[in-house]
Amino acid sequence: MTYDVINPATEKVVRSLELASVEDTDAAIARAARAFTTWRQVAPADRGRLLRRFADAVDADLENLARIEVENAGHTIGNARWEAGNVRDVLTYYSAAPERLFGRQIPVAGGIDLTFHEPLGVVGVIVPWNFPMPIAGWGFAPALAAGNTVVLKPAELTPLTAIRLGELALEAGLPPGVLEIVPGAGAVVGQRFVTHPAVRKVVFTGSTGVGKQIMAGCADQVKRVTLELGGKSANIVFADSDLAKAAAQAPAGVFDNAGQDCCARSRILVERSAYERFLELLEPAVKGFRVGDPADPSSDMGPLISARQRERVAAYTGQDVAFAGTAPEGPGFWFPPTVITPPPGSAALTDEIFGPVVAVVPFENEADALRIANDSEYGLSGSIWTRDVGRALRVGRGVEAGNLSVNSHSSVRYSTPFGGYKQSGLGRELGPDALDAFTETKNIFIAED
Ligand code: NAP
Ligand code: MG
Repeated sequence: MTYDVINPATEKVVRSLELASVEDTDAAIARAARAFTTWRQVAPADRGRLLRRFADAVDADLENLARIEVENAGHTIGNARWEAGNVRDVLTYYSAAPERLFGRQIPVAGGIDLTFHEPLGVVGVIVPWNFPMPIAGWGFAPALAAGNTVVLKPAELTPLTAIRLGELALEAGLPPGVLEIVPGAGAVVGQRFVTHPAVRKVVFTGSTGVGKQIMAGCADQVKRVTLELGGKSANIVFADSDLAKAAAQAPAGVFDNAGQDCCARSRILVERSAYERFLELLEPAVKGFRVGDPADPSSDMGPLISARQRERVAAYTGQDVAFAGTAPEGPGFWFPPTVITPPPGSAALTDEIFGPVVAVVPFENEADALRIANDSEYGLSGSIWTRDVGRALRVGRGVEAGNLSVNSHSSVRYSTPFGGYKQSGLGRELGPDALDAFTETKNIFIAED
């Protein structure tokens, strides 16, 4: 079956490609399974060297990768460059891991006891359309470093950078089969990763609904699974904070990537005494958030990914709009940054909208802020704005989410763990411990005589 990849800023076809069938998927899994028998035996230093060469190849192709992502996903050029750079950096970071995959020697009677971190085999990585490059790299880099081979399914909407990364891996000298890119439908290729017995682990990023299906499917073979799902993160602004700074930075904290970010701070909770003032400061910041041609470096935000996504997002902006920015007219899936003040109980306060829509909600005190922030099935990220260090710590410990930032909106660094509480996911990616999720611990006792 052929599939037309669309530029969301122009609605024009970028490229047509063949989607993989179940048979194609099985063939890719078989190649990856064959490659595993040799890849796992590559000396640690050589595996590290190959990953650094892969990182170098990504770096040399950075402008091309970024241009592809602007065209395929509507990402701003600045973001797209950062995303390609992130793949390079994640590969470099985990290139040090093969030589540091330490086991332990545990004191026991009658001999010596050793632990080993063994690779799992073939790892299936299922990637969504919102951050095609980084999310692919967070899966394949640590998986490969640990000695696994990878089959990777990009989202149907955004397969092009993944295909290019697969070519770069080969150019860098990774053996064929070590990283197989399999573009195709979730229900076909993704589902086959779940059911195929040679795939020993599935790493899934996407919607909570599909994540639950994958977890249930993996149970059948007790297949390992890591899930990075949705979010409805709170940006909690206390009256004692630098309100001007909190308001100036709030738009980027939710509207970056047109709000199609699982870490989007899509609920701004503001202490009642500062609520009116905060909204006054927020309005010019939102209206100044530039929506336009993603290839133009002065644009802060491009279009949404698809007409369907725009319909979904629009359904949440009815009568509760406080104010909104502007967006281009004409072709392209444009949507303006929009601020809503919905009444308690609205779906807009609990659903992941995944678009440039933010709800502003007043709170009375610290306990009330925590009650509202935690009134969500999700728990991925969040921010706390205050000048009081004790409060930052108390509230930071109280928010049920995996990734919090104080007086900023950063969630993701490749050297720190990333992942969600509650229905935002299962397991952690990135950081020093990521290889634990791609290895089994083996214990061997050797008798002294
Ligand atoms: P999705 O359906 O969960 O898609 C994510 C990935 O899973 C895609 O590669 C998709 O393939 C694949 N997939 C779909 N059904 C599958 C199945 N039955 N078995 C295995 N793989 C499957 O997400 P979506 O429909 O694109 O987006 C819907 C909503 O999900 C968004 O509005 C947003 O709320 C949330 N979302 C969250 C994130 C995140 O980063 N946490 C990312 C994306 C979406 P196809 O490309 O063929 O569909
Ligand atoms: Mg879907």
